[in-house]
Amino acid sequence: MTTQWTLVIHGGSGSMRPETLSPADDAAGRAGLAAALAAGAAILRDGGAALDAVQAAVEVLEDDPAFNAGRGSVFTAEGRVECDAAIMDGAALDAGAVAGVRTTRHPVALARAVMADSPHVFLAGAGADQFGRAHGIEAADPAWFETPERRRQLDEILARPDAAFDSDMKYGTVGAVAVDGDGHVAAATSTGGLTGKKWGRVGDSPLIGAGTYADDRAAAVSCTGAGEVFIRLGVAHEICARVRLAGWSIEDAADTLVDELGELGGKGGVIVVSPDGSGGWAFNTPGMYRAMQTHDSAPEIAIYGDE
Ligand code: ASP
Repeated sequence: MTTQWTLVIHGGSGSMRPETLSPADDAAGRAGLAAALAAGAAILRDGGAALDAVQAAVEVLEDDPAFNAGRGSVFTAEGRVECDAAIMDGAALDAGAVAGVRTTRHPVALARAVMADSPHVFLAGAGADQFGRAHGIEAADPAWFETPERRRQLDEILARPDAAFDSDMKYGTVGAVAVDGDGHVAAATSTGGLTGKKWGRVGDSPLIGAGTYADDRAAAVSCTGAGEVFIRLGVAHEICARVRLAGWSIEDAADTLVDELGELGGKGGVIVVSPDGSGGWAFNTPGMYRAMQTHDSAPEIAIYGDE
């Protein structure tokens, strides 16, 4: 019998259009999504857990400088990289998250360790990195995360008269959601946040219930976009609540929450899967790096809204 599974990933939503994204960036984005999808799909195909699949997919994207997570994360106003990540297991409602980490190669692996090896859910700053060292999570020098392109993007923002932070958010937070052969769902999200962020700003990505949530009774959700608005709406948990308590489909819940996000002036998107194997996405930006595969379908990879 074929094991049934579904994997959906994203590499951020934003203002990507065929006429503004260079062919090289377009190709790099698609190649990165394909590699991440393959890493997660290999685990699910072998009967592995959704939790392992979402972590594997996100780790590939964290290593890929084309995306704003791990290596290639955007710079803070002070010219540093500070990563946020979260992971959640829908079977037991276990969750782990980290914010502002600077010396951990895979922030999502650190979030997983917080979930598995600590009594806590959310660790921040240098303490989170220290926890990783104490639990065998791979370190990386802060310089490893930094790329010339992200430095250039920070310089561009700082040169604007109204320099605040990057409100276009087109630099590719990453995430994955999956359902495995046992019907368990999981979600993971990882990001460098917004270019030019300061004051220790943390967005929705590592906040359980805002940017990341998974519940076997409902769905798994990973978000990308205007973090402050996602936090105010509690988007990821709200999607799960509408599915669980109101009986909505994941498609209706995702579409409606993205509409409600827009009503509050927020831009962005979500990826979703349900324990019954359906999966998809919704977004209100011109594009979103996204990909999906199931046990009986070929990889589907897209960037622009009309693909
Ligand atoms: N949601 C992320 C944040 O607010 C950014 C993004 O998805 O582009 O940090």
